Order: sequence, then C-alpha cells, then structure tokens
Amino acid sequence: MKKDLLDLTLDEIALEIQTYGWPKFRSTQIFRWLHMGIKDFMDMTNLSKSDREVLENKYSITDLKLIRRQDSRKDETVKFLFQLPDGEMVESVLMKYKHGNSACLSTQVGCAMACSFCASGQEGLVRNLTTGEMVDQILAMSSLQSERISHVVLMGSGEPLQNLGNVVKLMKIINENEGLNISLRHVTLSTCGLIPEILKLATYKLPINLAISLHASNDDIRRRIMPVSRGYSIKELISACDEYSRITGRRVTYEYALIKGVNDSIIDMQHLAKLLKGKLCHVNLIPINPVEGSNYQSTNISHLNELTRVLLKNGIVSTVRRELGSDIDAACGQLKRRTLNEK
Ligand code: SF4
Repeated sequence: MKKDLLDLTLDEIALEIQTYGWPKFRSTQIFRWLHMGIKDFMDMTNLSKSDREVLENKYSITDLKLIRRQDSRKDETVKFLFQLPDGEMVESVLMKYKHGNSACLSTQVGCAMACSFCASGQEGLVRNLTTGEMVDQILAMSSLQSERISHVVLMGSGEPLQNLGNVVKLMKIINENEGLNISLRHVTLSTCGLIPEILKLATYKLPINLAISLHASNDDIRRRIMPVSRGYSIKELISACDEYSRITGRRVTYEYALIKGVNDSIIDMQHLAKLLKGKLCHVNLIPINPVEGSNYQSTNISHLNELTRVLLKNGIVSTVRRELGSDIDAACGQLKRRTLNEK
C-alpha cells in the first residue's frame, strides 16, 4: 500500500525525500502543495516531471469524496458527509463566527462511547481515522466553500482521545506555518472524559483548549446517559482536569448538554457549582439537539436563563453555546444515519 503524504508532518516528508537525494526545500514545496488541497502529483508544477513521477509511484494523497451536504437556512452553517478511501463515511461541519470559520471534525468512524443522546454513539466504533483523513476534512471544506479555516474543534463523531497518536500528529500538521498555519490556541479537543488519556495528553503540553463532556453533576445521572463514566466518578474526572490545568496552564471547559427533566434542575446546577467552585474552568451550557430514536427534549429558554443565573450566583461563569445549524441535523451522526436509512 502506498504511504499517504497527508499523514506526514513536514519533518517526516523531509526524511522521506532524503532517500532520493533531493534538496531539503523540496519537502517544503511538496508540503505546501498538499495543504493547498492539491490531489494530483502532476499539478505540483514547481517539481521536475521525473520527481513528480517518483512521488506518484511511491505515495498517495487522501482525497475525501463529498456524498451529501446540508446548508442551514437559519445561518451559514454547512454540514458535509464525506466518503473515506475505504468507503466508510464521516460528517464534518463548517460554522461561521465573527472571529473566523470553525471546522468541526470527526476523529473516528462511529464511536465506542455510546452516549445516549448521540447518533454516532448508537452506531458503535468502526475504526480510527488516519491523520490524513482528519486533515483532509479541513482541506475539503475549505476548498468547497472557498474559505480559510482558522479554528478547529474535535467534536464530530468519535472520541479523540481514543485516537490520541493520530490526533497529536494532526495538531502538529495543521499548526505548520508552511501549511494551514492554524494556531493551536484555536483548537478545541472535546472528550467524554477518559482519565488516563487526559493525563497523557497533558504531557504533550499543547496549548489547545480541552472541553470535557460532563453533562451531569451526579454520578447516577452521568452513568445513565454516558456509559463510559461507569469507570470513573465525576470527582475523579474533575481532579484529572485540575492536573491537566496544572501541567498545561490551560483552562478547562465543561460542556453540559441540557436534557429536559433529566439533568436540568436547579439542584443539578447547584451541585455543578459546588463541584467546580474555585477551579480554573468555564461552563458551556448546550441546549441539546433532538436525536432520532431518542426521547430527549431540549430545555426551554427561560429555564436555561434561570440555570445560568444559578451558576453565576454560585461563582461559576457560563455561556450558552449558540445552536448553529439547528435545522440541519446538527448533532453528530444524524446526516450519516439518514443517508444510510435512505439507501
Ligand atoms: S457524544 Fe462523542 S463520545 Fe459520546 S458517543 Fe457521541 S461521538 Fe462518542
């Protein structure tokens, strides 16, 4: 099987081309073409024809195929369903903010974590994505919309910390100033809270934002909606996050998807405030997107405002995440599920 050049950092490409005795600057030329979205080696026109032929014989470039897209009528959010080289499919979303364009990427096909409010979790894990498949979600969306992407969130299908090696490599590649040059301060990794992997991530000391999908302030409710939490208590998770903040100096965000009648009582918020009191953290309250096959309903706006007031009164700063693209199956896994059902 040919090696995928989109899987490689600039330094790794430099090592590859050393074997052909080519000058070092050739690796920068190749890297620039790759991250401009070029998929055909013959289009790398500042390389000699014979060098391009060597590359074509030895390497491949991941090229995701667009299967379907959904454009929001309410805002400029676009959801894409891409086919991977082996025929599997993943979703990616492009969201427009005042501060720039943000790409929400998938890191796995399906997900093993089985969160009860998530369509990807209901599918189970199929496989990890390669680094090149994650990079190409950014390149493909950027090219389809003719827009620069300045922010990346790992919140699509999959648990990024179960694919940590490829995700760390992704950070290195997208941060490279000869390529996409995306600041790691503009990258958010969202995890359902795998404690050993959070501590391992801390050792890389990446200046990224860590978001924890907490979604409950007591273990019974969390275990019911997030089976992964059966292995860890909320207190253990929060103390791992404290350690993460201590090592990296970065503030942790706690994501809390509000599900009507399940985790959105005043008492739930008081518990949450007590757990997080005095910590370097932020809370994101998320009105849940309805998922086909689940009975969960979203908390109404006036109750949501009351919950933010409870947090504030107890010294916790929170924001309500804007529901971008709420008309386009915005929760992860739903467009894929609909497409497969239609087939
Ligand atoms: S919410 Fe995230 S971690 Fe949970 S099942 Fe869905 S993709 Fe996996």
